[in-house]
Amino acid sequence: MSDIYKEIKEFFITQQVLYGPTRPLTRAVVEEVERDEGENVRSEEKNASESGALHTFHGEINQCQKCALGSTRTHFVFGSGNPHADLMLIGEAPGRDEDLQGKPFVGRAGQLLTLMLQAIGLRREDVYIANVLKCRPPNNRDPLPEEIAKCEPYLLRQIELIEPRLIVALGRIASASLLRTNLALGKLREEIHRYNEVPLIVTYHPAALLRNPQMKRNAWEDLKKVSDFLAKTG
Ligand code: URA
Repeated sequence: MSDIYKEIKEFFITQQVLYGPTRPLTRAVVEEVERDEGENVRSEEKNASESGALHTFHGEINQCQKCALGSTRTHFVFGSGNPHADLMLIGEAPGRDEDLQGKPFVGRAGQLLTLMLQAIGLRREDVYIANVLKCRPPNNRDPLPEEIAKCEPYLLRQIELIEPRLIVALGRIASASLLRTNLALGKLREEIHRYNEVPLIVTYHPAALLRNPQMKRNAWEDLKKVSDFLAKTG
């Protein structure tokens, strides 16, 4: 059984256990998810070519050498998705897969993120996904404060251009960096914050959910909060 098949199965099972029967997991369901992923790629390409100001901004900054990560990266990982998204998701920094492909959340954690979005009726190309850092820290170490300080203006400009109605910070590092706090993730999940005036909800990093499946229950609560927020303010 492939990794993604196992992840999908686990996700559906978690949902069934917590919230009663959903669609039974069959090959057809998995193939549908895979087809959607193909559609996502095509729509992401369309988004990229239609993004105007965001596209121009990408062109302006993608040779950045403001910190040492500029010399170790393979690709500058700007972000991807709908340039006018209502929902923007912000992770920590590109990992190995993202560095190689130049896109955020394309590895195993990214596959789970796609499923999490699908669970609240969103496709990847409906939202915008970016990271606090645009370049991969060597060996996936945590971002350094000086790297965050150099990179954050890029993220702020992206937010200004996209104008999301809601931001979701994925994981402790992204949340702590954006909100400038040392509070535990569990505490931060309890309220809706603001980042540069935009409402922000904190949830787990999908990589943490892969390591700790028991946290998926709380993650599902967060996703419902996201979905309710978008429905109420839409
Ligand atoms: N983890 C992140 O925080 N961001 C990515 O893009 C991939 C993995």
